[in-house]
Amino acid sequence: MAKTNFFSFLYQKICKDTGEQNESTKLVIVVRMLTLTMIAYSLANCIFFVLASDTTGMIFCQLSMIAFLGLFAASYYWRSFVSYCVFNLCSLVWVILYVRMYGWNVGVQTYLFVLIVFCFFARSRHEGTKVLYVVVLLALRMYLYFYCQNEGAQITMTSELNFALQLCNTVAIFLSLSLLAYFFSADTQALEWKLIEYNTKLKEQASIDPLTGLHNRRSTMEYLDGVLKTSENQISICLCDIDFFKRVNDTYGHDVGDVVLTKIAETFRSQLPADTFVSRWGGEEFLLIFPSLNGDEAHFELETLRQKIKAIVFDGGSENFSVSLTFGLIEYDFHSDLTALLKEADEKLYYGKENGRDRIVF
Ligand code: GH3
Ligand code: MG
Ligand code: MG
Repeated sequence: MAKTNFFSFLYQKICKDTGEQNESTKLVIVVRMLTLTMIAYSLANCIFFVLASDTTGMIFCQLSMIAFLGLFAASYYWRSFVSYCVFNLCSLVWVILYVRMYGWNVGVQTYLFVLIVFCFFARSRHEGTKVLYVVVLLALRMYLYFYCQNEGAQITMTSELNFALQLCNTVAIFLSLSLLAYFFSADTQALEWKLIEYNTKLKEQASIDPLTGLHNRRSTMEYLDGVLKTSENQISICLCDIDFFKRVNDTYGHDVGDVVLTKIAETFRSQLPADTFVSRWGGEEFLLIFPSLNGDEAHFELETLRQKIKAIVFDGGSENFSVSLTFGLIEYDFHSDLTALLKEADEKLYYGKENGRDRIVF
């Protein structure tokens, strides 16, 4: 429990805002994370120096800890970018002094890679400055290399101490790089997911009728175009229209009319074969595509559907009522084009309307 409290307290401290407007909170959070890593790193080094009775190393590590602790505290008062710059400065001084004192073998110079990655992840418009900074870091690494080649380490150490520091250094650099990558990539990934979700929603909105949830005319044309070109099955297409729907609206109101449209759409979905493509063609007209039924089979399905819809009782407020549909059904002949097919279905529907409605014309 106490552990959880300590970590949540630490997490709150790390994430605390600077209070400045137009500030990148993330930048200061990463600075604080890396600063804490440096404090822990210096503390671990300090312990090794104490064990090895190396007073200079001990003092160096204590001063490093004080500097990074000071930076951590100051990050609550400074602008994020200032904290970021001071962190870089402290790290550079620390690397230079460490390598000059203990030599190339401890591997502290590798920390310069952390600074390169941080510099490119930190959001800033000054791309030129970033490139310049990388050149400076490269030059510094070269300088340290030649310095160590020519001068050697100022302080010699035992191979055990060298091994312990090397280990500590590797862990600290891996941890710092992972923290950097995690914090800066988490945002990008979240953004990517948001975009994918947003695109899916947009696509859905562009292809689905909001009232009935059926496909709209646009997506139906796309589907028809594809299915007619590729399918080798018998395909049947049916255009249907609610009879005297205007009367429903006029008598019971537009809202009741909407309920009728929704209920009919639901009945299409529940009664027709699962592969039937059901769409709201417009107003109170629907287009049903049977991608694997011939005309007779589709006629059979439609007859059951016609009766089911007629049997639905709608609540009109003052009285109950029911509606019927007229259907114009055609079977794809494998050569007519889309416009001709739809025209033929429309003509059959019109014929049904002219000849008493509530029927399937095939
Ligand atoms: P017919 O049997 O010849 O098809 O007659 P009808 O009254 O159904 O046809 P008409 O074209 O005269 O009227 C269609 C009505 O459908 C008119 C319009 O207000 C209504 N309508 C179209 N879209 C909607 C909608 O989304 N909701 C509601 N409630 N009514 C709609
Ligand atoms: Mg109608
Ligand atoms: Mg109509």
